[in-house]
Amino acid sequence: MANNNIPSDAILSLNQAALQAKNEGRDVINGTIGMMFLDDGSLPVSETMKKLLSVHTKDDDFSYPSVGGPKAYLDSAIRWFFGDSLIGREEEGKLKSIGTMGGTGAVSSSVRISTIGKKSLVLIPSYCWPNYPCICENYLLEHRSYDLFASDGSFGLASIVSHIKKAHKDGFENVTIIINDPCHNPTGYSMNEEEWDNLVEALNSASSYISISLIIDCAYIDFAPLENRGFILNAVKKLNDKIVAYLAMSFSKTFSFYGLRIGLLGITSSSKKLVDEQHKKALIAARATWSVPNHMAMNTIAEALGDESTFVGLKEGVNADKNILANRASIFLKEAEESKLSLLPYRNGFFVTIKCPDAIKTSKTLQNKDIFLGPVASDCLRVALSSILTPQVSGLASAIKVAL
Ligand code: PLP
Repeated sequence: MANNNIPSDAILSLNQAALQAKNEGRDVINGTIGMMFLDDGSLPVSETMKKLLSVHTKDDDFSYPSVGGPKAYLDSAIRWFFGDSLIGREEEGKLKSIGTMGGTGAVSSSVRISTIGKKSLVLIPSYCWPNYPCICENYLLEHRSYDLFASDGSFGLASIVSHIKKAHKDGFENVTIIINDPCHNPTGYSMNEEEWDNLVEALNSASSYISISLIIDCAYIDFAPLENRGFILNAVKKLNDKIVAYLAMSFSKTFSFYGLRIGLLGITSSSKKLVDEQHKKALIAARATWSVPNHMAMNTIAEALGDESTFVGLKEGVNADKNILANRASIFLKEAEESKLSLLPYRNGFFVTIKCPDAIKTSKTLQNKDIFLGPVASDCLRVALSSILTPQVSGLASAIKVAL
């Protein structure tokens, strides 16, 4: 099992080192960062988006929005990520959303509001985005790691269930579970329909003896097949009325809006009362931390997604990025197999993770050859296919093998 003793900003620092080496004129392979780059090294920001951003300079873009963000933004964003069926749930009062400071804001806020006033434990995946432990520590919350994978490489539900039982025995009143799906960071794993169904069944059953909160961090959802949204939607609808699910969505990866800091949090439950209560807490948490979301970014997105042909064009753009990633992944996976690298189960998305005895040492050895890959645990090296140009992917697996 991985440990998570890697500083939450380790990858960002390594990315800076890679950029510096590049500025010094060195021929760098930068596979550190979860940002999508095209093969010419540029970000895939659509021209339509650039134009819209450049005209969103009116008073209404600079002024304070409401704490939750404009309805036009929230509705269009929900529709973008989950389609009309989730909008229907909103009309029934079973979903409320707020604009957030990226996906980080949505995850952080849901960790906070799902745990206020209850002795709470947060369960995070054994391989995970290093910001999860950081967020828990920021709120002085205990966190434990569930095994992301069972021994056969499928989703580690049994570990979640045994952690929930243990939490109950240890006197916790609430367990908040973070699931990062699809395109899990750092492994690229995406749960299948059966795994989602089994998770829901287990959580519904556990909710008879302990409060359960489910955070679904779907920052990379646009890079998975369409059917994966359906798995999440169905799962959320089947959760019983004691459980609140928090959908953490982000436009960072989708539109390369990394620095614009805009995302949203969808709070959903079969209990309208719980949705109302948690939504009120989310507004207070937002007000107390970032105050209001980015008005200019929300207005731009609302306008872009509100126009049908722009909406379709943007979907095509994201699909093109998805195809680039799939191509990079197929080259890397084939060569990794030839080089006999040991990979964690990959399905889609930005990252592939290699198991190795000492990831920090291997990362340093590779750095000496101007190959920058982030250790995400003491025994795991992450390859961010998103930021490696396609021609640089060939040969990378064998270079890693040599470094190992
Ligand atoms: N969740 C995961 C798993 C991530 O990897 C990231 C970014 O790297 C985020 C959420 C949030 O990103 P942002 O705050 O930029 O939307």
